[in-house]
Amino acid sequence: MAIANILGFPRIGQHRELKTALESFWQNKISESDLEKTAATLRKAHWKMQIAAGITGIPSNDFSLYDGMLDMSALLGVVPERYRAQWGIVDLATYFAMARGIQKGPIDIPAAEMTKWFDTNYHYIVPELNPNQNFRIASYKPVREFTEAKSLGITTRPVLVGPITYLLLGKMRGGGNKLDLLPRLIPIYSEILKQLEVAGAEWVQLDEPMLVGDINDSARAAYTKTYETLRQSTKLKIFVTSYFGALGENLDTVINLPIDALHIDIVRGPEQLDEVLQKLPSSMILSMGVVDGRNVWHNKLTASLDILDEAAEKIGSERIWVSPSCSLLHVPYDLDLETTLDPALKNWLAFGKQKLGEIAILTKGLNHGHSAIADLLVSSDETELSRRIHNPEVRERLEKHPLTAAGRKAPFAERRVKQKNLFNLPQYPTTTIGSFPQTAEVRKMRADFKQGRISEGAYDSFLEKEIKAAIKFQEDIDLDVLVHGEFERNDMVEYFGERLEGFAFTKHGWVQSYGSRVVKPPIIFGDVYRTKPMTTKWSVFAQKLTKKPVKGMLTGPVTILQWSFVRDDQPRSTTAHQIALALQDEVLDLEWEGIKIIQIDEPAFREGLPLRRCDWQEYLTWATRVFRLAYTGVRDDTQIHTHMCYSEFNDIIDSIRDLDADVISIETSRSQMELLDAFSNYRYPNEIGPGVYDIHSPRVPKQTEMIDLLEKARLRLSEDQLWVNPDCGLKTRGWTETKAALANMVSAAKHVRSERGKSATKG
Ligand code: GLN
Ligand code: ZN
Repeated sequence: MAIANILGFPRIGQHRELKTALESFWQNKISESDLEKTAATLRKAHWKMQIAAGITGIPSNDFSLYDGMLDMSALLGVVPERYRAQWGIVDLATYFAMARGIQKGPIDIPAAEMTKWFDTNYHYIVPELNPNQNFRIASYKPVREFTEAKSLGITTRPVLVGPITYLLLGKMRGGGNKLDLLPRLIPIYSEILKQLEVAGAEWVQLDEPMLVGDINDSARAAYTKTYETLRQSTKLKIFVTSYFGALGENLDTVINLPIDALHIDIVRGPEQLDEVLQKLPSSMILSMGVVDGRNVWHNKLTASLDILDEAAEKIGSERIWVSPSCSLLHVPYDLDLETTLDPALKNWLAFGKQKLGEIAILTKGLNHGHSAIADLLVSSDETELSRRIHNPEVRERLEKHPLTAAGRKAPFAERRVKQKNLFNLPQYPTTTIGSFPQTAEVRKMRADFKQGRISEGAYDSFLEKEIKAAIKFQEDIDLDVLVHGEFERNDMVEYFGERLEGFAFTKHGWVQSYGSRVVKPPIIFGDVYRTKPMTTKWSVFAQKLTKKPVKGMLTGPVTILQWSFVRDDQPRSTTAHQIALALQDEVLDLEWEGIKIIQIDEPAFREGLPLRRCDWQEYLTWATRVFRLAYTGVRDDTQIHTHMCYSEFNDIIDSIRDLDADVISIETSRSQMELLDAFSNYRYPNEIGPGVYDIHSPRVPKQTEMIDLLEKARLRLSEDQLWVNPDCGLKTRGWTETKAALANMVSAAKHVRSERGKSATKG
């Protein structure tokens, strides 16, 4: 008989209990044992929920107070020097120091680096390794949580990040090959497995998502060697998981590992199934990820059951675990909490708890035949039909649009001349990225308005007052291109989602982003279109207050897509094109209303890149096209800006050029402009504003520092290309430091201008 299985469950709590407890603990409002009590309550509730749903393959140690990779570092004693870890157990203070850094009086120890977990919006703490790295068992968390479940009468399967994935995701300080550390690492893993065995575990789950990426021969060889060694050292049954894609050229390696069960992602990598079934050794169990762990749609039960049946015919149902495609960490908890969602839409959705139910239903169907779940199959089919939320006008418009023609009318060189004449900006023009500080008052007024505690009139006058003050401030310090400040926006995607058709918002659909940070992504369920202008009101209001140009501010199609749950009944690119057409309407409205510079932010452009390089080009082709589509039709002298808050452009520089924004602002201050090399080596033709100060800290940069950075930028790019701006939006900053920093920035630009002017007259 097949069993119902999952790989991991969200930790934050359905009412964000863990977030609350963590933040109270950090503020010294509750004790360590209070925090631990909340954590234990959550673990228990989650295990009980799985049992109630009919899951029998239940993981443990999937829980974490902050992050599972950080847990692994604590477990393996990978604690950088600066945290002064003691020999022995890594305590909670050290653990959180690694996660968040320490700022106490004169002590200022930075946190460990954090980065995205594959192509999800979850972030993990990067292990900091060095060539002399030693490993030791420095935590008993996996054993403790296994025993905790055991005492509740639940036999779980402890989850660890697998050794190869752990090393490959780490960063080696001082160079050297990370996999060279394996001989020292494997004995510690063996030791941990032994402890789990002694505690009574039967299985261990080793997550190896690196198996779906581009890894080289030596990594593949390392997989073989490592798992052979682990096999010898433990009687535990070993379950290796791959997820977020297909095994591809790593399939043969994996299939030949001496392991007892293998998980494959059939949602993201359906194409691998046939080959896996064909090659799977007769002793190996296959965990089939048929329920999407990355999205919120209900499962197409009939289709899934067909896949499972076919597999059962080939390998026997007793060798099948029915599973979600990956851990359920990436979906919200419980759809039942959404009491105000449109019931029709609700029918199409499944969150964590509902997905547990789907797994159980599918397992039942597989074990007892379709007739055992006949009612459910029918209702699922009907639901599937009703999902087709289509607007023929949107479809028609997209079909009619000659996509190849997406782009500007004239080439940049021609546009530039017209724009120069129109704006008459000085060299090194100064601007900001868009948002100004979202003070407590701004946030309170927005919430009051949303909750109906203040009238629209009162809210509007408040925004007018804020915008007036922001424009006056920018004029006072003599910035060249102004912004209205984005005070009316809570979040750069939500703001647009709320004003577009085809989007829905949940009340409790929280997903962990990192640590105690959670996000509530919008759900794109239907064709996207715009019924009325979304941003013109405040842009036009601001523009009327000044003779200087005020930038219109939009979030780009790729970013809106990337930070939402996206319908899965059509390609993501189709949805992106629809968003782009809606934005095009907005761009043209802004232009019509007299806004001459329009910025289309794409901070998520790079994170949309697929995991495997061979899939990059397809993505980049449509991603650049939808960006261009968003501004298609504007006049030559309308200046299009974009903004991206990172600076690694080396491998996508062609596509950045193809975006053909007149001006791009990027982050670079922290790398001392070195990352501008991508643009200079490439002879990037359009204009660039490399961020001259880091907005992520309240520190006010001195004028001389920024002059220095501008000189460095000048070595790499021509001065006709350069703009002067901060790294990113200022919404997380306070006014005091913002005012001081921007005033210094304008002085720095003026200084550089006059120096260049002098040398020009002399020359
Ligand atoms: N215009 C946005 C802002 O300034 C850009 C935000 C971002 O890059 N993430 O806040
Ligand atoms: Zn940014």
